[in-house]
Amino acid sequence: MLLDDNPIALIEENLERCLLCGRCRSVCPVFREVGLEMVSPRGRVALTSALARGEISLSEVFKKQVVNCLRCMACVDICPSDVEPNETTTAVYRIIASSKVIDPIRGIMFRILLRRGRLLPPFTSFWANLFRILTPLLPEWTRLRHLLPLPTMKGIRYMPGFANMPFSYYIDYYNRVYHAGMWKHRVALFFGCASNLVFPETAHSMIAVYIKHGIGVYIPPTQGCCGFPAGAYGDEKTRRKRLYEFERAFSGLDVDAVVTICATCGHNLREARENMLIAVPEVYDALVYLSEVADCRFKGANSKVAYHIPCHLGRGQGATEIVKRFLERALGEQFAGMIIEGECCGGGGVYNLIHPDIAFSIGEKKVGAFVESGADVLTTSCPSCKIFLTEVMAKRGLPEVKDVWEVLYDLI
Ligand code: SF4
Ligand code: SF4
Repeated sequence: MLLDDNPIALIEENLERCLLCGRCRSVCPVFREVGLEMVSPRGRVALTSALARGEISLSEVFKKQVVNCLRCMACVDICPSDVEPNETTTAVYRIIASSKVIDPIRGIMFRILLRRGRLLPPFTSFWANLFRILTPLLPEWTRLRHLLPLPTMKGIRYMPGFANMPFSYYIDYYNRVYHAGMWKHRVALFFGCASNLVFPETAHSMIAVYIKHGIGVYIPPTQGCCGFPAGAYGDEKTRRKRLYEFERAFSGLDVDAVVTICATCGHNLREARENMLIAVPEVYDALVYLSEVADCRFKGANSKVAYHIPCHLGRGQGATEIVKRFLERALGEQFAGMIIEGECCGGGGVYNLIHPDIAFSIGEKKVGAFVESGADVLTTSCPSCKIFLTEVMAKRGLPEVKDVWEVLYDLI
């Protein structure tokens, strides 16, 4: 994520380092689909530099194609010269945001709801309950039924509804359990917006698994969004504000570690800590922390389970091998393996709403590999991957994707 307040400087640094070797083109999922140099990582670096030097303008084609990036980091991983083409995308969004043409929906999301994090749970709870009351009154055929959970940006798409009871409503209860227990290890949980507002069962399941393994989970009550969505789309001010709030909630705690249950939040927070933007105890993905401190024993799974490793956990946190070994131990013979290891699912946060054709083509390959694996259940560690892959699976009549904590909870 960008550190420099001047996005132009980051763009120029990347160009200086780029050897133009083109190795990144072989791994970029978007380039594989589109086949245009301007959407390859190398092309992005060159074109954003031309923009920074004022040789080209911020045209509609530029805004559509050059920022056509999943932020999957495959290019960063393979680059021999430490170039970060994904960050040039973020830099361009910063330039767009500073030119005051950020679209109104993102403006409301980032500047009002995310920056003032406490507004989100009551807002989404109200929306979920409104949806529950209105849905039975709407005729079966109306598209409003699909639009009510959330307005989408392109066409009618699958969107899970908000939870009636956000996870944050249970914080006091879990903290009483924490203070009453004798624990081998103690962690502070950062649950993230999606687990709070859409998939609270993920956080409930993770805490149950931790408690079973003698790990106490304290939940700092004043936490909100980690700021990644805002930063990724150019609103670095909101990201920094959210990181500052995170630090206030998580610094000075008497715990062994901070754990996260969203790959993207974990990646963002670990990176911010490494870059000394926040001073907090070490941040781990909850699966990685569990595998390091506990001698985990689970009862055997009844069905075959395949796992999609999110880019922000595999590449972003370097956790692919740890997670694979953990799942092999936990699931035994019922582990059907990682589905096309190291390949993005195509979801990319809101990318799939902006570029649905490319996203679905990439997602289809994942789901095809899942079918070939012979597994019954597809699981992952990222709410965004879960939402998008569930939609791709549904098109083939396949079951909903589960979060890995839901799977593990059934085995304790
Ligand atoms: S970004 Fe890296 S891999 Fe891609 S062309 Fe430049 S040096 Fe080569
Ligand atoms: S982050 Fe992924 S989609 Fe974006 S340029 Fe790199 S490889 Fe391509």
